[in-house]
Amino acid sequence: MIEKRIDELIKIINKASIEYYTNDNPTLTDQEYDDYYHELETLEEKYPEFIREDSPTKRVGGKIIDEFKKVTHEVPMMSLGDIFSIDEVIEFDNKIKKVIKNPTYICELKIDGLSVSLLYENGKLVRGATRGDGVIGEDITHNVETIKSVPLKIKETKTIEVRGEIYMPKKSFNLLNESRKNNNEQVFANPRNAAAGSVRQLDSKIAAKRNLSTFIYHLPKPEEFNIKSHHETLKFMDELGFTVNPNIKKANNINEVVDYINEWTEKRDKLPYEIDGIVIKVDDFNDQKKLGYTSRTPKWAIAYKFPAAEVLTKIRNIEFCVGRTGKITPRADLDPVHVAGSIVRSVTLHNEDYIKEKDIMVNDTIVLHKAGDIIPEVVRVEKNRRTGNEIAFKMISTCPICGSQLERKENESNYFCLNKECDARNIEGLIHFSSRDTMNIEGFGENIVEDFYNMGYLKEIPDYYKLYNQKQELKELEGFGEKSINNLLDNIEKSKENSLEKLLFALGIRHIGKKTAKILALNYKNIDNLMNAEYEDLIKIPDIGDIIAESVYSFFKEEKNVNLINKLKELGLNMNYLGNETIDENFNNKTFVLTGTLEKLTRDEATIEIENRGGKVTSSVTKKTDYVVVGDKPGSKYDKALKLNIEIWTEEQLLEKL
Ligand code: NAD
Repeated sequence: MIEKRIDELIKIINKASIEYYTNDNPTLTDQEYDDYYHELETLEEKYPEFIREDSPTKRVGGKIIDEFKKVTHEVPMMSLGDIFSIDEVIEFDNKIKKVIKNPTYICELKIDGLSVSLLYENGKLVRGATRGDGVIGEDITHNVETIKSVPLKIKETKTIEVRGEIYMPKKSFNLLNESRKNNNEQVFANPRNAAAGSVRQLDSKIAAKRNLSTFIYHLPKPEEFNIKSHHETLKFMDELGFTVNPNIKKANNINEVVDYINEWTEKRDKLPYEIDGIVIKVDDFNDQKKLGYTSRTPKWAIAYKFPAAEVLTKIRNIEFCVGRTGKITPRADLDPVHVAGSIVRSVTLHNEDYIKEKDIMVNDTIVLHKAGDIIPEVVRVEKNRRTGNEIAFKMISTCPICGSQLERKENESNYFCLNKECDARNIEGLIHFSSRDTMNIEGFGENIVEDFYNMGYLKEIPDYYKLYNQKQELKELEGFGEKSINNLLDNIEKSKENSLEKLLFALGIRHIGKKTAKILALNYKNIDNLMNAEYEDLIKIPDIGDIIAESVYSFFKEEKNVNLINKLKELGLNMNYLGNETIDENFNNKTFVLTGTLEKLTRDEATIEIENRGGKVTSSVTKKTDYVVVGDKPGSKYDKALKLNIEIWTEEQLLEKL
């Protein structure tokens, strides 16, 4: 079984490597390749008896094509180990520290190109070569000579080899692909493949036209130049006339490395070339020597790879969830994938219309990303990967839990289970009631609520506050015991003191989220006022539209809900707004824009203060902006505010009003 999977993985990886390195035309995404590669590495680590001599984990790069003259690298050209999370960066540091007490690191951008070796004799470029399989590369001198940033002559007369990356700037890549598209030629998948495809051409006229460039970052034999560290090497090569990337940082500890990673994760889009990660190298060559090498990578360096913004995965099944309002939501079970820092196993498909619009089928390969870097979302279906095994989506007509007929309301895309006794609806409603943003009853996670529901202890909301009557019985439950039940009961007791807005959100009134609950609590101060509010009163409140007003009004007109509130009152729950925020006319319902550097408050603090008083902070100045708060060195927003005649406040004025 294991052996079979290893064989399978080696086949997939070898095929992908040929397509990537030899043909410069990848058929897998890097994410897919990396996932297969790491699966193989993990299996080999666990089952060393199955490691094959020809495993791709033992060698670097791809096959050499015969058209090129072969070049033997005197010092092998290695790859880098890769990691994908900050935890692994820390782990790397810990490993290093087992050998080196206080390592200094050099952080560099990981240029997304292909590595090149440049050899100079008597100050003249005599050879340019690809990495190839690490030992034997291809002679690409004729093409390297056309790259403007590669000096043909240097002042060093000793034989010297330097190594670095050939890359294609983003602009040239876009122009190249545009013209290929116009000529009906196949476009390159990314700038790395375009660069590789350009230097691995027999006719140097092609490379000359492609506007390639280089960054040089490695000297295989530093001892011949009496150089002792990586940062000295970079300086030395820069002085010889090579292009060394300027965005290099010396880091005295791992926190500084993490800062560098965070800084460039944010700024990478602004660079004129692609980077796919950060390379971290131990600076001191003596330290590097002590750390040594594996068969394909140095142990003194590592590549942190940026999380892929978009990944491919497969839809294995579509299930249906019943929400607390009875809403039925189709959800896709996925082959688990790493995306933007976490493993995603499922994604919401919202409703039938959404699925039809995106043409989603079971077994489809989809592109997935995280909207706002948080919520997984289907970007599109990769229809060209369909194999014929896809199964068309079919919306269900009955509730998957209670079997009642579902209904689709007019003008809504959603189907609902209208059975108010549906177990799924009840459980979801109870989970919602105790969750963090609502009553925050610690300990009542999804599983416990569901278990308590199924055992009959929790059937409706007031049951939470009656659980203490069953304390003895609960203590006997398997997996609980005195201490945990006491904790649960204490947490329930504490929740009685919550301010009104928490309770309002917890009740699960349709369309009432955290923000609206707060607005209602601020305006009505206690539940009786709110229950007596007419639709006309509600609609007058800024930010409350007719859908919300209607929903609140009808909720409190239903006898069942009035009974629920009365029961909760009797059980001792607070029904008043307890916050100290008031409605401040200077801020309430006003829109603010902040520009320039504030001195006494941070932007976040100013935003919180404004929002606490009912105001809104937005990022761009429009006619709807009420005030622009201007700090030091304000940007174009200030000019726009003047143009639109919007009232300007200084920070002093803001503080006064606050
Ligand atoms: P790599 O690209 O992950 O990392 C090593 C390389 O980084 C070095 O050889 C060097 O060329 C480069 N590099 C860039 N900046 C550097 C710097 N400042 N210092 C040192 N090195 C720097 O390793 P690799 O062996 O070239 O390629 C493996 C990767 O290629 C895989 O992880 C995968 O992402 C991709 N790949 C994809 C497919 C596919 O089918 N999509 C197939 C094979 C490989």
